[in-house]
Amino acid sequence: MEKPADDAGRLALAPPPGRGPIKRTGMVQEVFERIRGDILSLAIPPDTRISVEHLVRVLGVSQTPIREALSMLEASGLVTKKHFSGYCTAPKLNRKQFEQLYELRFLLEPYAASKAASHISDTELRRLCKLALQMEPRTEDDSRASYDRFADEDSEFHTLITHGSGNDLIVESLARLHIHLHIFRLRFHHEVTQEAFAEHAQIILALQQRDPDAAAAAMRRHLEKSYARLVHYAME
Ligand SMILES: [Zn+2]
Repeated sequence: MEKPADDAGRLALAPPPGRGPIKRTGMVQEVFERIRGDILSLAIPPDTRISVEHLVRVLGVSQTPIREALSMLEASGLVTKKHFSGYCTAPKLNRKQFEQLYELRFLLEPYAASKAASHISDTELRRLCKLALQMEPRTEDDSRASYDRFADEDSEFHTLITHGSGNDLIVESLARLHIHLHIFRLRFHHEVTQEAFAEHAQIILALQQRDPDAAAAAMRRHLEKSYARLVHYAME
Protein backbone atom coordinates (compact mmCIF):
# COMPACT_ATOMS: atom_id res chain seq x y z
CA MET A 1 0.00 0.00 0.00
CA GLU A 2 1.29 3.48 -0.92
CA LYS A 3 1.86 5.91 1.92
CA PRO A 4 -0.45 8.93 1.75
CA ALA A 5 1.25 12.13 0.61
CA ASP A 6 0.96 13.84 4.02
CA ASP A 7 3.20 11.16 5.50
CA ALA A 8 6.12 12.26 3.33
CA GLY A 9 7.30 14.94 5.78
CA ARG A 10 7.32 12.51 8.65
CA LEU A 11 9.30 9.97 6.65
CA ALA A 12 12.05 12.56 6.09
CA LEU A 13 12.50 12.75 9.89
CA ALA A 14 13.24 9.03 10.15
CA PRO A 15 16.61 8.26 11.79
CA PRO A 16 19.49 7.48 9.42
CA PRO A 17 19.94 3.80 8.55
CA GLY A 18 21.49 1.80 11.35
CA ARG A 19 20.44 4.32 14.02
CA GLY A 20 16.78 3.34 14.33
CA PRO A 21 15.21 1.44 17.21
CA ILE A 22 16.13 -2.01 15.86
CA LYS A 23 15.96 -3.75 19.21
CA ARG A 24 12.46 -2.55 19.84
CA THR A 25 11.34 -3.72 16.40
CA GLY A 26 12.74 -7.15 17.26
CA MET A 27 10.82 -7.06 20.49
CA VAL A 28 7.55 -6.13 18.76
CA GLN A 29 8.11 -9.09 16.43
CA GLU A 30 8.69 -11.39 19.39
CA VAL A 31 5.59 -10.11 21.20
CA PHE A 32 3.63 -10.47 17.94
CA GLU A 33 4.72 -14.10 17.53
CA ARG A 34 3.91 -14.98 21.14
CA ILE A 35 0.40 -13.54 20.99
CA ARG A 36 -0.20 -14.98 17.51
CA GLY A 37 0.89 -18.44 18.70
CA ASP A 38 -1.50 -18.18 21.66
CA ILE A 39 -4.37 -17.18 19.37
CA LEU A 40 -3.66 -19.94 16.82
CA SER A 41 -3.40 -22.61 19.51
CA LEU A 42 -6.53 -21.24 21.19
CA ALA A 43 -4.60 -20.60 24.44
CA ILE A 44 -6.37 -17.26 24.05
CA PRO A 45 -9.86 -18.47 23.02
CA PRO A 46 -11.77 -17.07 20.02
CA ASP A 47 -14.07 -14.11 20.53
CA THR A 48 -12.42 -13.10 23.79
CA ARG A 49 -11.26 -9.75 25.06
CA ILE A 50 -7.49 -9.40 25.15
CA SER A 51 -6.32 -7.62 28.26
CA VAL A 52 -3.28 -5.46 27.49
CA GLU A 53 -2.57 -5.13 31.23
CA HIS A 54 -2.53 -8.91 31.57
CA LEU A 55 -0.09 -9.23 28.65
CA VAL A 56 2.13 -6.56 30.22
CA ARG A 57 2.42 -8.75 33.33
CA VAL A 58 2.81 -12.07 31.51
CA LEU A 59 5.27 -10.94 28.84
CA GLY A 60 7.16 -8.47 31.04
CA VAL A 61 7.15 -5.68 28.44
CA SER A 62 5.48 -2.27 28.32
CA GLN A 63 2.12 -1.54 26.67
CA THR A 64 3.67 0.03 23.55
CA PRO A 65 5.09 -3.11 21.86
CA ILE A 66 1.97 -5.02 22.85
CA ARG A 67 -0.29 -2.46 21.19
CA GLU A 68 1.92 -2.45 18.10
CA ALA A 69 1.79 -6.25 17.94
CA LEU A 70 -2.00 -6.19 18.35
CA SER A 71 -2.44 -3.79 15.48
CA MET A 72 -0.26 -6.07 13.33
CA LEU A 73 -2.57 -8.94 14.29
CA GLU A 74 -5.55 -6.78 13.43
CA ALA A 75 -4.21 -6.59 9.86
CA SER A 76 -4.35 -10.38 9.55
CA GLY A 77 -7.89 -10.53 10.94
CA LEU A 78 -6.95 -12.55 14.03
CA VAL A 79 -7.74 -9.60 16.28
CA THR A 80 -10.41 -6.93 16.04
CA LYS A 81 -10.44 -3.58 17.77
CA LYS A 82 -13.75 -2.69 19.33
CA HIS A 83 -14.67 0.85 20.15
CA PHE A 84 -15.22 0.57 23.88
CA SER A 85 -13.86 -2.79 24.89
CA GLY A 86 -10.40 -2.67 23.23
CA TYR A 87 -8.93 -5.67 21.44
CA CYS A 88 -10.73 -9.01 20.99
CA THR A 89 -9.65 -12.23 19.30
CA ALA A 90 -11.65 -12.92 16.15
CA PRO A 91 -14.30 -15.64 16.36
CA LYS A 92 -13.43 -18.90 14.61
CA LEU A 93 -14.62 -19.12 11.03
CA ASN A 94 -18.29 -19.98 10.89
CA ARG A 95 -19.66 -22.50 8.42
CA LYS A 96 -20.67 -19.87 5.87
CA GLN A 97 -17.28 -18.12 5.95
CA PHE A 98 -15.56 -21.49 5.68
CA GLU A 99 -17.67 -22.49 2.64
CA GLN A 100 -17.00 -19.16 0.95
CA LEU A 101 -13.28 -19.38 1.59
CA TYR A 102 -13.08 -22.83 0.03
CA GLU A 103 -15.31 -21.80 -2.86
CA LEU A 104 -12.74 -19.13 -3.70
CA ARG A 105 -9.84 -21.51 -3.19
CA PHE A 106 -11.43 -24.07 -5.54
CA LEU A 107 -11.83 -21.40 -8.19
CA LEU A 108 -8.35 -19.96 -7.96
CA GLU A 109 -5.85 -22.49 -6.67
CA PRO A 110 -6.25 -25.38 -9.16
CA TYR A 111 -6.12 -22.80 -11.96
CA ALA A 112 -2.99 -21.23 -10.44
CA ALA A 113 -1.40 -24.68 -10.10
CA SER A 114 -2.07 -25.48 -13.76
CA LYS A 115 -0.50 -22.18 -14.82
CA ALA A 116 2.42 -22.77 -12.46
CA ALA A 117 3.11 -26.11 -14.18
CA SER A 118 4.24 -24.14 -17.23
CA HIS A 119 5.41 -20.90 -15.61
CA ILE A 120 7.15 -21.71 -12.33
CA SER A 121 10.94 -21.37 -12.57
CA ASP A 122 13.27 -24.24 -11.70
CA THR A 123 14.62 -22.18 -8.80
CA GLU A 124 11.11 -21.61 -7.38
CA LEU A 125 10.32 -25.28 -7.86
CA ARG A 126 13.44 -26.28 -5.91
CA ARG A 127 12.40 -23.89 -3.14
CA LEU A 128 8.94 -25.43 -3.10
CA CYS A 129 10.44 -28.92 -2.84
CA LYS A 130 12.71 -27.91 0.03
CA LEU A 131 9.77 -26.34 1.85
CA ALA A 132 7.58 -29.42 1.34
CA LEU A 133 10.31 -31.69 2.74
CA GLN A 134 10.71 -29.40 5.73
CA MET A 135 7.00 -29.94 6.43
CA GLU A 136 7.39 -33.68 6.90
CA PRO A 137 5.67 -34.38 10.21
CA ARG A 138 7.83 -35.74 13.01
CA THR A 139 5.89 -37.88 15.45
CA GLU A 140 8.06 -36.77 18.36
CA ASP A 141 7.24 -33.14 17.68
CA ASP A 142 3.47 -32.98 18.03
CA SER A 143 3.49 -29.66 19.79
CA ARG A 144 1.31 -26.65 19.28
CA ALA A 145 4.43 -24.72 18.27
CA SER A 146 5.11 -27.18 15.45
CA TYR A 147 1.49 -26.83 14.32
CA ASP A 148 1.83 -23.06 14.35
CA ARG A 149 4.92 -23.44 12.16
CA PHE A 150 3.04 -25.82 9.87
CA ALA A 151 0.34 -23.16 9.34
CA ASP A 152 3.04 -20.72 8.21
CA GLU A 153 4.76 -23.23 5.97
CA ASP A 154 1.50 -24.36 4.39
CA SER A 155 0.68 -20.75 3.71
CA GLU A 156 4.09 -20.28 2.08
CA PHE A 157 3.67 -23.49 0.05
CA HIS A 158 0.38 -22.29 -1.44
CA THR A 159 1.72 -18.77 -1.98
CA LEU A 160 4.76 -20.10 -3.89
CA ILE A 161 2.46 -22.02 -6.24
CA THR A 162 0.09 -19.12 -6.85
CA HIS A 163 3.14 -16.90 -7.37
CA GLY A 164 4.43 -19.47 -9.84
CA SER A 165 1.27 -18.89 -11.90
CA GLY A 166 2.63 -15.45 -12.75
CA ASN A 167 -0.68 -13.76 -11.89
CA ASP A 168 -0.04 -11.18 -9.15
CA LEU A 169 -3.75 -10.51 -8.65
CA ILE A 170 -4.41 -14.13 -7.71
CA VAL A 171 -1.49 -13.96 -5.27
CA GLU A 172 -2.86 -10.76 -3.70
CA SER A 173 -6.47 -11.95 -3.52
CA LEU A 174 -5.50 -15.08 -1.63
CA ALA A 175 -2.86 -13.39 0.57
CA ARG A 176 -5.34 -10.78 1.76
CA LEU A 177 -7.54 -13.49 3.30
CA HIS A 178 -4.81 -15.00 5.53
CA ILE A 179 -6.52 -18.31 4.85
CA HIS A 180 -4.10 -20.57 6.68
CA LEU A 181 -4.19 -18.60 9.91
CA HIS A 182 -7.95 -18.97 10.03
CA ILE A 183 -8.42 -22.54 8.89
CA PHE A 184 -5.77 -23.92 11.25
CA ARG A 185 -7.56 -22.38 14.21
CA LEU A 186 -10.45 -24.74 13.51
CA ARG A 187 -8.59 -27.85 14.48
CA PHE A 188 -5.31 -28.84 16.05
CA HIS A 189 -4.39 -32.39 15.08
CA HIS A 190 -1.28 -34.06 13.70
CA GLU A 191 -3.27 -36.03 11.09
CA VAL A 192 -3.79 -32.69 9.32
CA THR A 193 -0.04 -32.33 8.84
CA GLN A 194 0.53 -35.97 7.86
CA GLU A 195 -2.15 -36.03 5.18
CA ALA A 196 -1.27 -32.63 3.79
CA PHE A 197 2.36 -33.72 3.44
CA ALA A 198 1.39 -36.58 1.09
CA GLU A 199 -1.01 -34.39 -0.90
CA HIS A 200 1.64 -31.70 -1.34
CA ALA A 201 4.02 -34.33 -2.72
CA GLN A 202 1.48 -35.13 -5.49
CA ILE A 203 1.24 -31.46 -6.43
CA ILE A 204 5.02 -31.13 -6.61
CA LEU A 205 5.30 -34.25 -8.76
CA ALA A 206 2.84 -32.79 -11.29
CA LEU A 207 4.71 -29.47 -11.32
CA GLN A 208 8.03 -31.26 -11.85
CA GLN A 209 6.48 -33.11 -14.78
CA ARG A 210 5.29 -29.72 -16.08
CA ASP A 211 1.81 -31.22 -16.45
CA PRO A 212 -0.90 -28.50 -16.08
CA ASP A 213 -3.87 -30.89 -15.87
CA ALA A 214 -2.23 -33.13 -13.31
CA ALA A 215 -1.19 -30.08 -11.25
CA ALA A 216 -4.73 -28.70 -11.23
CA ALA A 217 -6.14 -32.13 -10.33
CA ALA A 218 -3.64 -32.65 -7.50
CA MET A 219 -4.41 -29.21 -6.08
CA ARG A 220 -8.15 -29.87 -6.32
CA ARG A 221 -7.71 -33.17 -4.48
CA HIS A 222 -5.67 -31.47 -1.76
CA LEU A 223 -8.36 -28.80 -1.31
CA GLU A 224 -11.15 -31.41 -1.25
CA LYS A 225 -9.36 -33.35 1.47
CA SER A 226 -8.48 -30.23 3.42
CA TYR A 227 -12.13 -29.18 3.22
CA ALA A 228 -13.27 -32.59 4.47
CA ARG A 229 -10.75 -32.56 7.34
CA LEU A 230 -11.89 -29.20 8.63
CA VAL A 231 -15.50 -28.56 7.63
CA HIS A 232 -17.02 -30.22 10.68
CA TYR A 233 -15.11 -27.90 12.97
CA ALA A 234 -16.62 -24.75 11.46
CA MET A 235 -19.71 -23.91 13.49
CA GLU A 236 -23.07 -23.21 11.86
ZN1 LIG B 1 -1.58 -27.31 1.73
